[in-house]
Amino acid sequence: MSGIAHPAEPAPADIVIVNATILPMGGNSPVEDGVVTISGDKIMALGEAGEVDASQAVRVIDAAGRVVMPGFVNAHTHIASNMLLRGLLEDVQLFEWLQTMWKMKRNFDPETLYWASLAGLVEMLKAGITTFNEHFDAYAVTPQLEALRKVPLRATLGYGFADRGVYASISDWSWKALDTFGDRVAAHHRSGNDRIHLGLSPHAPYSCGAELFKRVREVADAYGLVIHTHLAEAPQEQAYVRDHYGTTPVKWLHDLGFLKSDVTAAHCTQLDDDDIRILAETGTRIAHCPCCNAKLNSGTLRLRCLCEAGITVGLGTDGPASHNSLDMFQEMKFAGMIHKDKTGDVEFLKTRALLELATSGAAEAMNRSETGRLAPGMKADIIIVDIDTIHASPVYDVAAALVYSAKAEDVRTVIVDGQVLMEERSLPGIDEDEIRVRFREAAFALRDRSL
Ligand SMILES: [Zn+2]
Repeated sequence: MSGIAHPAEPAPADIVIVNATILPMGGNSPVEDGVVTISGDKIMALGEAGEVDASQAVRVIDAAGRVVMPGFVNAHTHIASNMLLRGLLEDVQLFEWLQTMWKMKRNFDPETLYWASLAGLVEMLKAGITTFNEHFDAYAVTPQLEALRKVPLRATLGYGFADRGVYASISDWSWKALDTFGDRVAAHHRSGNDRIHLGLSPHAPYSCGAELFKRVREVADAYGLVIHTHLAEAPQEQAYVRDHYGTTPVKWLHDLGFLKSDVTAAHCTQLDDDDIRILAETGTRIAHCPCCNAKLNSGTLRLRCLCEAGITVGLGTDGPASHNSLDMFQEMKFAGMIHKDKTGDVEFLKTRALLELATSGAAEAMNRSETGRLAPGMKADIIIVDIDTIHASPVYDVAAALVYSAKAEDVRTVIVDGQVLMEERSLPGIDEDEIRVRFREAAFALRDRSL
């Protein structure tokens, strides 16, 4: 076929958001009276009204009086398994908590995991979380993949592996799954328009042996997958590794050749100076879960030292079994408060830095740099937050209103991958009542046959 090539007319935007106060994040300045245009799954343009052509839009969203910002990124969670244990394991430390949790986990079935996954996805969507890093410790990812077809958030699903302690019974499964991981990669990695990535999630240094960590590293390198593990979470873990290997969890994993920039390490509350140097040198990234760490009395991340060492850090909620809410507003607020208290420095962690930790920082911490900030070419993962509320008024400072006053319910509209998944708090195509009822029934049935 021949013909004269004409320069293409710019395609009209699918969605234009107007009259917005835009917080692009990623170190960029806010834009007042701003416009964002979206085409397909990407942001086309962003700027002040008059700078950006919004005339041809298919759909216009008026964000007057509201904040437009990247969707929150949850750098460490476990929705499928942990939704089923929310509120069951209160007032205990980590190792006691794990023992009880295992009694439930060994009775998981696909139907129960499906409803739990859906419930977690809906909770995150309604709280403005558009991307999450799932450490999949329920050992059957298919139900969550199905749920993600119904509520299509952006996700990295890390297959959980372990081979000792309370997890010894899944040792054979773990090794077999690693040996055939190429099949899973072929079936699911980068699926759903590249929203769904697979990763590898060895559980922790007290539940995985050296050979398992080494095998995970080989598989990750072979397929170019990221790794997501718990590391240096609590004093009990430090004691276990010291007693068994005579060192710290960070040094032990480093000596195995495990730590690289494709690793997201959750928690890291127990770091000494040498550990921090190793994490910086290897480019290891950290998911910081301040609410969970404080609630389980695990310790507090040395965040200021990590920032000074140039280590990438993002916020995560951890699973709702340990902190009970999939809510980044709570994590931002609590992070601000606990680090001011622990450092004795009220100027440490200002509101803008907390917002970065929950968006661009968390995206970098889970190696998903296509999201977490608003700029042309980035994925269109966007939330619109109403801060014109009694509990945030008067709004002298937008960042202060978002971090210390706003609530998850103030998120009005959520766009993921260019699709409007929530509009003015309603979820088109989602029967929220059915999900809540079926999830509750499945959870109580699981508890009654497990404990
Ligand atoms: Zn966790």
